[in-house]
Amino acid sequence: MPAKLQAFRALFPPSRRLPLLAALVVALLCPAIGTAVAYYQASTWLRQQADHRVTEIIQATDDILLHAQAAGRRSLPLLDQPCLVAREQLVMSAALTPYVRSLALYRGPQGYCSSLSGPARFSYPRERLRRNGNLLLMPGNSLTPQQPLLLLRIEQGDRGVLVGLLNHFVAETLIPTQTDPESVSFLTVGSRYLNREGQALDSAPATPSVVAIETSATSKHFPALHATVQVDQPTLNRFFWQHYSLLLGLLLAGGLAGGLLTHRLLTRRDSAERELRRALTQGEFEPFYQPVLQADDGSCRGVEVLIRWRHPDKGLIRPDLFIPLAEEAGLIVPITRQLMQRIRADLQTLSLPDGFKVGVNLAPVHLHEATLIDDCRLFQQTFAARDIRLVLELTERGVVDNDPEVQATMAELRTHGVQLAIDDFGTGHSSLAYLHKLNVDYLKIDQGFVRTIGSDSLGVTVLETIIELAHRLHLEMVAEGVETEQQRRYLQQNGVQFLQGFLFARPMPIDELRCYLASK
Ligand code: C2E
Ligand code: CA
Ligand code: CA
Repeated sequence: MPAKLQAFRALFPPSRRLPLLAALVVALLCPAIGTAVAYYQASTWLRQQADHRVTEIIQATDDILLHAQAAGRRSLPLLDQPCLVAREQLVMSAALTPYVRSLALYRGPQGYCSSLSGPARFSYPRERLRRNGNLLLMPGNSLTPQQPLLLLRIEQGDRGVLVGLLNHFVAETLIPTQTDPESVSFLTVGSRYLNREGQALDSAPATPSVVAIETSATSKHFPALHATVQVDQPTLNRFFWQHYSLLLGLLLAGGLAGGLLTHRLLTRRDSAERELRRALTQGEFEPFYQPVLQADDGSCRGVEVLIRWRHPDKGLIRPDLFIPLAEEAGLIVPITRQLMQRIRADLQTLSLPDGFKVGVNLAPVHLHEATLIDDCRLFQQTFAARDIRLVLELTERGVVDNDPEVQATMAELRTHGVQLAIDDFGTGHSSLAYLHKLNVDYLKIDQGFVRTIGSDSLGVTVLETIIELAHRLHLEMVAEGVETEQQRRYLQQNGVQFLQGFLFARPMPIDELRCYLASK
């Protein structure tokens, strides 16, 4: 940022609290929202995995039970045979069917022939089997009270086959593979639970902490059979940190960058700009007038209008401090238009000599504004009777070579009597041919060159060259910043037609200009 712009901004320190607050909100909110979305994603992914897992468990368990059911069905014809004959078949069938521990035949409430104990009579939980859709999870039976088992009944009227399955085969379906996320899973048969260790429990296996995700499925073939998968909160959290830490880092960095950017933007669109807008609506910009004298007789032939900002607290503010920001903020055009209105009103209160020139500084962007032509025409019409001429001062640094739009605008302005001066001549790099095309009326020699008069620096040579060129192109010259008698003499002797500087008069408000002109 140029030093002057910085100095100007320093005049109006921005509010510190608002940008800081906004930056904090952005810096915290962005990662917070991002984290929430990522956390939701992580839990959705885990839920899908759990859904997948629970269907796998049910399918695997069904598979085992269907094998057992088939073995039972195959044994149904044995019901018509005496136990001594049937038993051999039962033993064979139990041995050849995977997962099956025993097969037994029953009639009514009593078992009468088992692959394990032969033709002994035994009772079985008939009623509970009936209520449970013929599938029962038992902690043990009379034969092996310590060994939990699954009991499946295949009915044929009042008779049927009982199939006993070893729980640990079924429980193996609950053991996750290495790629499965950590979870707790169990099977429910009726009101009993089967855990991963193959134990039959009367209550659901304890989950170590709060359950974050729970999903369950029911067997299509055995309605009393359900599988459940649970993921607890610490597992979900661990999974989230493991898989999303990179994203979290990026979110934090993004939030920080967003916060800093917000802070910068808010402090950039700072109070200095707000102050400029306020000043525009309050009409705090004033024209000051600096006389321009004819070199040979010292008569006042015109003025250059130099803007001042009369700030209620800071006093008069110089244009080079606020013009760059006004340009940057897109306020230079409305400010200049307001200034032109004031100049018109001011000058109407003076009795100016015929042919008096009024130089107004124009920002380069203003040349592309449609309003410029109307504003200038109005100005010329106001003073038409006294041939007072508006001279637009365009800084050489803003002149763009070969801009047809600018050429057209200038041509039209010229038909209304407006003249053109190239300001700060020698500091930019406009081509002389272009200046010629634009029909420039005056070259304003920058005060930087005027200051070199009397020294033997390179600047003097440049000054000599500029003066010579202007003569050749038949352009009139105005030398700015004339401060000493030596400079005045040099410029006059070298044929510079007009002079402007503190040696003659400083920029002044309209009332002082009235006195100045009267005293001349
Ligand atoms: P500029 O157009 O080159 O104006 C001449 C500057 O030299 C003025 O400064 C004037 O006060 C100063 N000056 C005049 N005689 C002397 C002297 O003998 N010695 C020294 N050291 N300085 C002298 P000011 O008024 O501060 O304006 C600075 C610049 O701001 C102007 O330079 C012009 O580029 C810009 N400016 C002023 N008013 C306006 C305006 O209404 N619109 C735009 N776009 N720019 C403006
Ligand atoms: Ca100027
Ligand atoms: Ca200048």
